Amino acid sequence: MTPALHLEGVTHRYGSLTAVSDLALTVEPGQVVCLLGPSGCGKSTVLRIAAGLEALQSGVVWINGKTVADLDDQMPPEHRDVGLVFQDYALFPHLSILDNVLFGLNRWSRRERRDRAMLMLERVRMADYAPAFPHQLSGGQQQRVALARALAPGPGVMLLDEPYSGLDARLRDAVRDEVLHLLKTTGCATLMVTHDSEEAMFMADRIVVMRDGRVVQAGSPSELYCSPKDAFVAGFFSELNNLEGRVRGAVVVTELGSVPSAGLPDGALVEVVIRPEALRLGPTKGAGDKQFATVVQSRLLGRTSLVHLSFPWPVRGNGHRLHLHARVPGVFLPEPGQVVSIDLDLSQIFVFTPPDAAN
Ligand code: ADP
Repeated sequence: MTPALHLEGVTHRYGSLTAVSDLALTVEPGQVVCLLGPSGCGKSTVLRIAAGLEALQSGVVWINGKTVADLDDQMPPEHRDVGLVFQDYALFPHLSILDNVLFGLNRWSRRERRDRAMLMLERVRMADYAPAFPHQLSGGQQQRVALARALAPGPGVMLLDEPYSGLDARLRDAVRDEVLHLLKTTGCATLMVTHDSEEAMFMADRIVVMRDGRVVQAGSPSELYCSPKDAFVAGFFSELNNLEGRVRGAVVVTELGSVPSAGLPDGALVEVVIRPEALRLGPTKGAGDKQFATVVQSRLLGRTSLVHLSFPWPVRGNGHRLHLHARVPGVFLPEPGQVVSIDLDLSQIFVFTPPDAAN
């Protein structure tokens, strides 16, 4: 299958700063791919290079099998068969909602343009607002119109740059749900930039995690969540409890108990990262040889409760205590000072060679 979008060997510098390094990326037809990473890691630069808003400095960009940028030639954005949506909506303030959507359809007949624009406004449930002007709409409504405008010409690829970051949390959830279903209904291949891992998991068939201009790991949301390549990727998807441990044969010995050593060499000092949901708390009575911890605080966060725990940490010296977070489903609010037993869910615990040791 010909990829809808493919970038190869893309490196981009702003003066002495290398924003993107030898990056390769593929979006298959119909796929939603999210570029995920911290602010400043180069995500928007990649998107802008794909769109033609940033001149390519090295590498090649293909859209639906056609070279749209290489070192010899670079097509302007309007010839690339891409739809663009940015966080600031960028609707024309002096044009009605209908005229905003008609704007991108200049190659069509008058009748076709109107029918198409109204169809797209219906799809984003904004047809009733066709005569209105942007300032009469809420942020979420403007963003839906921006999406309708970008989708109206039927682009081969949609490029979305933090499209929901201007919206408040509740509106964001509703808009992104609509956008996901719309993109999937139209079958438009999409590359979306976000720094929010939950948003990426909500939207993406495939996530590409970037750090310092490079791809760290790419895969399905479940591959990245369940098999992160390093502590950076694991930490991008959830809060972590960080411990150190020493490999002893097939296991790593930590204060909380032994966990599988994942084939790391015997004797190595390793990073052990434990998701808060990996700590299962129970009564001390009948807990056998399980570890015990003392509750510091408990908070209900909605679907889960967060329990702060204190645990003896003798490797850091006498009297040192480890502060751990446990996330428990539902309402579980033990009192401060209460002692609980800890069980480990090994599927939510990962062992890595520390970055300094790997270099
Ligand atoms: P992200 O989208 O991940 O936040 P960007 O691609 O916007 O990252 O930026 C990557 C790096 O390049 C950052 O350090 C940013 O400050 C820098 N940068 C982005 N655009 C420019 C520019 N036009 N001129 C100079 N530096 C830039």
